[in-house]
Amino acid sequence: MKGRVYCVLSPFFLPLPPLRIMTAPPVHGINVTSSSQCAHYNSPLDIIAIKHKCCNQFYACISCHSELAGHPAQVWEIEERGEKAVMCGSCKHLLAVLEYLECGNRCTKCEKGFNPGCKSHYNLYFAVERKV
Ligand SMILES: [Zn+2]
Ligand SMILES: [Zn+2]
Ligand SMILES: [Zn+2]
Repeated sequence: MKGRVYCVLSPFFLPLPPLRIMTAPPVHGINVTSSSQCAHYNSPLDIIAIKHKCCNQFYACISCHSELAGHPAQVWEIEERGEKAVMCGSCKHLLAVLEYLECGNRCTKCEKGFNPGCKSHYNLYFAVERKV
């Protein structure tokens, strides 16, 4: 659904200045830093946190999830790539899965670099398209 209809129906959906004071969701994990690095991945590039489909919680990485969550991780399906499941640990911007996959390992907001090595485990977090 596109937002336009709402403007007519309710004053609450009239254009408002975007809310800047947004509290970032908590990031779970082992030894998580304020930039969402963790015990497993802590280079200056390992700054993203990923919301897991199974519990809707942000974890610094999949290993943190498997050690702490107590349940198997579920991946986001290809149809769910609009889900804001990736958080930049630097500016706390939330990226949709697709946005993240296409961001060229750079935050779409603050342009901080993300670890290009994460590519090799995308499949742990997101269903990957079948290559024909
Ligand atoms: Zn979970
Ligand atoms: Zn971790
Ligand atoms: Zn950022």
